[in-house]
Amino acid sequence: MTMNRRIVLASRPSGDPVAANFRTEEVPVGEPGPGQVLVRTIWLSIAPYMRWRMNDAKSYAPPVALNDVMVGATVGEVVSSRDPNFSEGDIVIGMNGWQEYAVCEAATLRKQDAEWGKSAIMLGVLGGNGMTAYAGLYKIGKPRAGETVVVAAASGGVGSLVGQMAKLKGARAVGVAGGPEKCRFVVEELGFDACIDHRAADFAEQLALACPDGIDVYFENVGGEVWNAVLPLLNDFARIPVCGVISQYSATEAPPGPDRTPELMRAVLSKRLEIRGFVLTDFADIGPEFYAEASVWHRQGKLRYKEDIHRGIDSAPDAFIGMLKGKNFGKVLIQLASD
Ligand code: NDP
Repeated sequence: MTMNRRIVLASRPSGDPVAANFRTEEVPVGEPGPGQVLVRTIWLSIAPYMRWRMNDAKSYAPPVALNDVMVGATVGEVVSSRDPNFSEGDIVIGMNGWQEYAVCEAATLRKQDAEWGKSAIMLGVLGGNGMTAYAGLYKIGKPRAGETVVVAAASGGVGSLVGQMAKLKGARAVGVAGGPEKCRFVVEELGFDACIDHRAADFAEQLALACPDGIDVYFENVGGEVWNAVLPLLNDFARIPVCGVISQYSATEAPPGPDRTPELMRAVLSKRLEIRGFVLTDFADIGPEFYAEASVWHRQGKLRYKEDIHRGIDSAPDAFIGMLKGKNFGKVLIQLASD
């Protein structure tokens, strides 16, 4: 009997997640019923939104229930199918979670273009990461040639693409990343104009020096101290797509210090700032437009990226916990079967 190794939510974290919040189980692989497909996972995408889904709180998506498989996007291979649209050997993208096998409804799967084989590309540069960068930057940020775009988590899945997409429209791209190695990569390999280490003692001063003409678009990925340094540098009519605030996902209380909301609201008014939160599903209809443009850029080598690959389902909790602390270097993926 083939067994399915999977990771479930054992308890809800208070603050930073720990290994004990997860439990590994081995259960027999199920049989697909009518309209269902059995898929073997090849790649599992690990992403910050999973931290929110561990909380029992109202959000734009429901929480993972205790003892349920952790949520996650996957690329996998069809093992058997009871749906006419899928056959054994098809490579499919789905939301099959932290497990080696899944019996899922055929309607939740999409076939991967044959061009990309068994790669994880539809989980990264040509998938959720790329589309998030594209939607937030172009539909909300709307950078113009010569403007300055700043993005944090600049070596990561989304941020690395935001800066490159800004450059493709003739803007200046300034990244923020954790540590000199990531900053070097962002400038030398990804082609950003500058990248500042948010852990440096004089981070705010360095950011100001890197943005002599102020900031026109700030693509918000992290919040916290980075946002505090960005706010005074924003130009009149700056646009701020709020994609994520990873520094706050595990916070259990308000940050120390005075309430800065009045200062923020003054800046919003006096600088006429446009701040808009978004989740990718708000832009569900941009898929074809994004794919047409981004797949060409990708083939031309204009969208470079780094993957941070871990092997085996057992590595998922540590990879996830580490990513929330910036230990990843690039898009975090778990490889469960050979590609
Ligand atoms: P990344 O690959 O960028 O990994 C997360 C990175 O966040 C870490 O590597 C670290 O980079 C940075 N980080 C963590 N804590 C802090 C902190 N306290 N201060 C500054 N930086 C920190 O992940 P993704 O590309 O998958 O996600 C990036 C952001 O985009 C997240 O906020 C995520 O929630 C959001 N997102 C939103 C979507 C939407 O639809 N709105 C869809 C997809 C992602 P470093 O070491 O460089 O600091």
